[in-house]
Amino acid sequence: VQDYADAHDFFFPLDLGARGSCTIGGNLATNAGGNRVIRYGMIRDMTLGVEAVLADGTIIDSRNKTIKNNTGYDLKQLFIGSEGTLGVITGAVLRLFAKPRSQSVAYCALPDYAAVMRFLHFAQARLGGTLSAFEALWASAYRLVLERATNVKPPLPDAHAFYVLIESLGGDPESDTAHFQAMLEEAAGEGWVADAVIAKSAGEVQALWAVRDGIPEALFTLRPILNYDISVPLGEMDRIAHRVRERLDARFPGHRTMEFGHIGDGNLHISTHIGAAGKAQQPAVDEIIYSLTEAVGGAISAEHGIGFSRRPYLGKSRSDEEIALMRALKAALDPGNILKPGRVIAIDGT
Ligand SMILES: Cc1cc2nc3c(=O)[nH]c(=O)nc-3n(C[C@H](O)[C@H](O)[C@H](O)COP(=O)(O)OP(=O)(O)OC[C@H]3O[C@@H](n4cnc5c(N)ncnc54)[C@H](O)[C@@H]3O)c2cc1C
Repeated sequence: VQDYADAHDFFFPLDLGARGSCTIGGNLATNAGGNRVIRYGMIRDMTLGVEAVLADGTIIDSRNKTIKNNTGYDLKQLFIGSEGTLGVITGAVLRLFAKPRSQSVAYCALPDYAAVMRFLHFAQARLGGTLSAFEALWASAYRLVLERATNVKPPLPDAHAFYVLIESLGGDPESDTAHFQAMLEEAAGEGWVADAVIAKSAGEVQALWAVRDGIPEALFTLRPILNYDISVPLGEMDRIAHRVRERLDARFPGHRTMEFGHIGDGNLHISTHIGAAGKAQQPAVDEIIYSLTEAVGGAISAEHGIGFSRRPYLGKSRSDEEIALMRALKAALDPGNILKPGRVIAIDGT
């Protein structure tokens, strides 16, 4: 879709690490977000209509082509993000955007989380709506990528507390580049950015993005690994990361834990390797991370869904009434429980 849109001078902004293998049906079923949510939203925000087949074979053709359509319930939303539990998506009308004429990317090192927050707010204001990615790596994650991902060249020395990939997509290559550079210089002058490197070619843009995209590969080498994908209020993010560390230190000394996230979206990823028997300890780590998430009103899944393994914790992010409504929807649309049984919500109340 990205290539097709590009060839026709349009832009499909959904972009994620799984870009080479994922399908649009899978993206829709998981309401995928990716790297540019801060500007364009999740795939839900780029979808005008959906066609789906219900459990009884009924085809629901909701391939709406307009942005505004308030003719009753927005049926496509039943299927987007429902992980295949309410119907099989067989068609979609996607929204394309004007193709950006400029792409400015920099990799920045920052001294602490307060600086990350200030830099984010400053860049949002100063770049006037063109900020398209703000991907942060705590030093723990940056170190792991440099150590274990192939095809990654360190853009900056491993000597800082935080690293941020910042991207701006604009309409005027010459003035946008100067504006982006000036913004970075001001942020450095304020002391928020300690060091930075700006990409000067498409190859350098790719090399900087490779650091972010190298995370799954680097994590994979640390098996068994427990991966978490939570949403928390921005101001709480680093506090939660610290509290998780404290509790893991107490319970699993010697663990190796990495934090990174789509910071502008409040999405924090925590991955931890607690030794060869890690999988057996997953319930204990789940409890630590999901309880801390619940305490700040966060979501136990930001972008990877509920599936089987997070189902027992759904109540930490959803009320009893919400869960009852989800169960009623599942029972109405799939009374025989044939679509992804056991995922997201159990029809029998377990
Ligand atoms: C390396 C990597 C990086 C990722 N990065 C991100 C990220 O940055 N942001 C993000 O949001 N997600 C991310 N993801 C997760 C991503 O959202 C999913 O991997 C992807 O969207 C799923 O697409 P898929 O075609 O692979 O689906 P699958 O993995 O095949 O399926 C996912 C779910 O969707 C259901 N499904 C699939 N197709 C349909 C259909 N046609 N109709 C109904 N249900 C269907 C399946 O039953 C399953 O429950 C990442 C994944 C990987 C592997």
